[in-house]
Amino acid sequence: MPPFLGKHAIVVGAGMAGLAAAGALVDYFERVTVLDRDGLPSDAAPRAGTPQARHVHVLLAGGQRAFESLFPGFTAELVKAGAVPMRMALDVRSEMAGYDPFPQRDLGWDNYSMSRPLAEYVVRKELAKRANVELRENSHVNAIVAAGTNGTAVGAIRLAGRHGGEDEILSADLIVDASGRGALTLATLQSMAGPAPAETRIGVDFAYSTAIFSIPDDAPGDWKGVFTFPNPPASGRGALLMPIEGERWILSLGGAHGDVPPGDLDGLRAFAGELRTATIARAIKGAKPATEVARFVFRESVRRHFERMASFPRGLIPLGDAVCRFNPIYGQGMSVAAQEACILRDILATRAAAPDPFEGLPQAFFAAIQEVIDTPWATAAVADFAYPQTRGERPPDIENTLKLAVALNDLAARDADIHKLTVEVRQLLKPRSAYRDPAFVARVQTLMAQAQMATTAPRPMHGHG
Ligand SMILES: Cc1cc2nc3c(=O)[nH]c(=O)nc-3n(C[C@H](O)[C@H](O)[C@H](O)COP(=O)(O)OP(=O)(O)OC[C@H]3O[C@@H](n4cnc5c(N)ncnc54)[C@H](O)[C@@H]3O)c2cc1C
Repeated sequence: MPPFLGKHAIVVGAGMAGLAAAGALVDYFERVTVLDRDGLPSDAAPRAGTPQARHVHVLLAGGQRAFESLFPGFTAELVKAGAVPMRMALDVRSEMAGYDPFPQRDLGWDNYSMSRPLAEYVVRKELAKRANVELRENSHVNAIVAAGTNGTAVGAIRLAGRHGGEDEILSADLIVDASGRGALTLATLQSMAGPAPAETRIGVDFAYSTAIFSIPDDAPGDWKGVFTFPNPPASGRGALLMPIEGERWILSLGGAHGDVPPGDLDGLRAFAGELRTATIARAIKGAKPATEVARFVFRESVRRHFERMASFPRGLIPLGDAVCRFNPIYGQGMSVAAQEACILRDILATRAAAPDPFEGLPQAFFAAIQEVIDTPWATAAVADFAYPQTRGERPPDIENTLKLAVALNDLAARDADIHKLTVEVRQLLKPRSAYRDPAFVARVQTLMAQAQMATTAPRPMHGHG
């Protein structure tokens, strides 16, 4: 057990990022308090504070391994609770223009499929096993409070009083803002008369409609899930059908840039019938719905550049969506949050013997997390800018990057090694710089020469791996 760096740490938000952050802090503080404005269910139920949890939530392999490293035994608990093991690239039928389906191959590892409330419930249970962690529900944090008057540090939070009572002040050595929107951090910076962080925004207007079905007895046996990819720029419609706990399927239908799927079950079935392929419409034809349709519109991805700020309050760390909200269709948010939490834990570990372990901590954290944000951000941005309607600054040379991505996808269809690497990048197991690895480049060149691939007709970009 390492020596404690401080007496008390507070995490605001018991979503996936807050729970992961608490897992990172638990060995380094005498007490860790996790506060959420919601009541926290005693089972895998959705709750008001995370409306997105009613929609399909893919846990990428990079995220699953990060949660496993924060909570050893997490994966076994997930499976015990009903998560469905999925052989990577074998058990999901991926349908994209030109490939119906994309070659299904065993890439050598399992992913796990479950509802977001189940994933959160399992992490919550794992965290609650730690004696020095307190999970406080129905606790709305009104503000993060400055320490002293010179505007360089925070030292407490202000908790809304219950039943109209007085606000409560809770002090801490470290406060992690995992409240999703990051409004608390931005308000803190403003109250200290500091500048707001620069932001990069990508407007995608992606609309979800989701329902859960019991898996019918006559469900196809050659896949466990189906991903019908959007076909940009012609169509931003796509769908993901995945198995979840309790012998159920969760189906999220989506449309980009104003193509909004309907909010009723008949409409949902009709929209499924208009997808490029009939696989999903056929699968749900006789399936009994277990929920009504839930809807969500995701307007824009937002990356806050805290790493570029000249100064940042000591004692405060924003993490998860509070730093970067990704277009959800690539399934990255929970995984990036868990990887950021691992980085926070590893930085704290290096400071165990430091005379002042909190000196420069936010800056060290912001610098280190860029490597886990860069890959998913770039992966999403390249695919998002395949639509001319996408708002934001187009990455330089995007047309060539899109052509390269299509060529790489074609090679991945033909070659298992290339397929594996592209999936490893999309699953956040490897950075995009792996595409510059000399062995990989040589393999691509050989394959391209063999096929004498001079030019190929443009084909669409694709999301989930
Ligand atoms: C439609 C949709 C689909 C998605 N699909 C995927 C997917 O397939 N895979 C994936 O990895 N990610 C997905 N995501 C993203 C994912 O939900 C988030 O990135 C991830 O949950 C991390 O979020 P978070 O914990 O930072 O914030 P949140 O999940 O928003 O949690 C924030 C928590 O803070 C609490 N809170 C907020 N303010 C306060 C306050 N003032 N006081 C106390 N508590 C407060 C809230 O109640 C909530 O519990 C999806 C998102 C959307 C919108």
